[in-house]
Amino acid sequence: MRDLSKQLNEIRQSGLYRSRRIGDSPQGPEVVIDQHKVLNFCSNDYLGLANHAEVNKAYIKGIERWGSGSGAAHLINGHSAAHHALEEELAEFTGRPRALLFSTGYMANLGIATALLRRGDGVFEDRLNHASLLDAGLSSAARFYRYRHADAGDLAAKLTARDHAEKLVMTDGVFSMDGDIAPLPKLAEACAKHNAWLMVDDAHGFGVLGENGGGSLALHNLGTAQVPIVMGTLGKAFGTFGAFVAGSEELIETLIQKARTYIYTTALPSAVAVATSASLKLAREETWRRERLQHLIKQFNIFASELGLQCMPSDTPIQPILTGDSEKASAMSRQLFEAGILVTAIRPPTVPQNTARLRITFSAAHTDAHLETLMNALESVFTKHD
Ligand SMILES: *Cc1c(COP(=O)(O)O)cnc(C)c1O
Repeated sequence: MRDLSKQLNEIRQSGLYRSRRIGDSPQGPEVVIDQHKVLNFCSNDYLGLANHAEVNKAYIKGIERWGSGSGAAHLINGHSAAHHALEEELAEFTGRPRALLFSTGYMANLGIATALLRRGDGVFEDRLNHASLLDAGLSSAARFYRYRHADAGDLAAKLTARDHAEKLVMTDGVFSMDGDIAPLPKLAEACAKHNAWLMVDDAHGFGVLGENGGGSLALHNLGTAQVPIVMGTLGKAFGTFGAFVAGSEELIETLIQKARTYIYTTALPSAVAVATSASLKLAREETWRRERLQHLIKQFNIFASELGLQCMPSDTPIQPILTGDSEKASAMSRQLFEAGILVTAIRPPTVPQNTARLRITFSAAHTDAHLETLMNALESVFTKHD
């Protein structure tokens, strides 16, 4: 057996040790964590729906109607009318013929790649894709390729160079650690030209981008023909839990037959589906939440450039500040915590070597006063480290 304590010490010494803080409040702009009341700038609750009164009420009604647990996988007897209704709403929302609920986004991504790809196929991924997409490609039987970040030219070159029975291109819609949006029209063009499927994981786009929260695909008006496979998560902007895949009738039926991460796992509790139907409605209708986010992002960018912070080109609520050094990112995150601000340090292997960063995320529930407190704290921490 490998010496685990030695290995843990090595992780500690490289400044990459991960540990958990214990929360003692619901999600929101202000949270209690490790017995400190802090301002929260690191959750994915972009629209402020994770603890919204109407969503909570729907959840409780869902429990009263359906009980706590779903009891079985969808293909046994865990698939309820509540799941089915939410799938229909998600299909309509994404403008796709069908949608299929998965218990998590990680499992949805794994399910797509392993169900669609065989030996002799190729899977092509942006090198900065979310870990679940990379793991999905690597777990499939296909040959795995990475193309340069957001580089449709590099993708096209790789698609040209290799002959495969089927080709699947997988990309984040909004890159989770950088906040930039994938060049989807160009990627779709390269896929059409080389007869490849395009799959977009829009975990950070749905609810946040597009007029009604339709995500990065709505932003570019890309339909099923250009992007045949869409994946979204329910635990981020929609504030609940779970995930879905949307696409053609044949795609969804194939996943039901073949995706092992769909078949061999317990269905989401029906109450989660009921709560998600409520939050989906709020996310679509309350456009002020997206406007609020855009306001916060704009104000933050003005401040960051005045202070000379090394931000990344992002128009989304994910606003990373590069520090490069992991230890520096961790130290800054600790100092911000002491100042009452919760911002996580993101370090390798989540991001490439020497690109450690503070990852700030905004929520529609943040007020201007919250933003100002953040900016003052950042100014003081960054001045100290200059
Ligand atoms: C969060 C996330 C996932 C995983 O979704 P879960 O439902 O949390 O498992 C997948 N892809 C991306 C891009 C994500 O950010």
